[in-house]
Amino acid sequence: MNNPEPMLEVEDLKKYFPIRTGVFSRVVGHVKAVDGISMRINPGETYGLVGESGCGKSTAGLTILNMLNPSGGSVLYKGKDIYSMGKEEMRNLRKEMQIIFQDPYSSLNPRMSVGEAIGEALEVHGIATGKKRREKVEYILKVCGLDTYHYRRYPHEFSGGQRQRVVIARALVLEPQFIVADEPISALDVSIQSQIINLLEELQDQFGLTFLFISHDLSVVKHMANRVGVMYLGRIVEDAPKKEFYASPLHPYSQALLSAVPSMLPAQQKERIILTGDVPSPSNPPPGCTFHTRCPWAVAICSNEVPHLKKVGPDHFVSCHLVEEVI
Ligand code: SF4
Repeated sequence: MNNPEPMLEVEDLKKYFPIRTGVFSRVVGHVKAVDGISMRINPGETYGLVGESGCGKSTAGLTILNMLNPSGGSVLYKGKDIYSMGKEEMRNLRKEMQIIFQDPYSSLNPRMSVGEAIGEALEVHGIATGKKRREKVEYILKVCGLDTYHYRRYPHEFSGGQRQRVVIARALVLEPQFIVADEPISALDVSIQSQIINLLEELQDQFGLTFLFISHDLSVVKHMANRVGVMYLGRIVEDAPKKEFYASPLHPYSQALLSAVPSMLPAQQKERIILTGDVPSPSNPPPGCTFHTRCPWAVAICSNEVPHLKKVGPDHFVSCHLVEEVI
């Protein structure tokens, strides 16, 4: 069977933030938050982007949606380069590409009722007004496990889980096809995290959604994703189908992250790999392989030469000079 046409193709994407100093705001360096990542997401699939906090995952999500200007690279959505689109074309595309943020409380305006917050986008995009708008909002509230009487309520009247349902409803009301879910459960109580995960899965089945699912939690990503990309200091160091990744991660950073995930079956619990040292600053990343300052395998070449993503299986990529030796 041929590979399906990807919904999203990211190629060598970069996002650098200038570091300015002095009265003339002279640029003295750059924070390389995203430093040349590539990925491909097929329709109806979930790509799990994982890594420690500060590795550039969220910046990657915002840049992919063109909510931040890229410093380089390209993003093709259904084969079209989104960075070369005009304002009007990009505005239309916004309906198809939505985002769910981590903190449902700060992503809702406390002075807007839930009905207004969800319906606002319908008016902005000229999709529905008046009665039709209300019907659409009430429908999407129900789809997201809320009730029509919630229409008039305000964010502070909801629990954390309900607020995240409101945020999801607001993203869905425009009938998007691609959603960046940026740590969508990490601000919620553990007891309700699984409800939101189940809701996202049900919505994916019902509407055929495609997700870029950003998370630091490898257990959640194992549940949600078809494919996993591991980010370290702005770069993807391993990119593999989920099953392969969880059965035999090949990059030492992936192995360390996975060794910290508790297993339900003690016999399957991997020996914990403790990484020494802190994550270096993305404003001054180490030369060569940026992981070399913490890598238990590091050899001389690692501090001089940047390893590029190598194909190590039919659909498995790893950036490590020594990867051939561990396969
Ligand atoms: Fe470790 Fe070297 Fe591989 Fe980087 S390239 S992950 S430092 S062995």
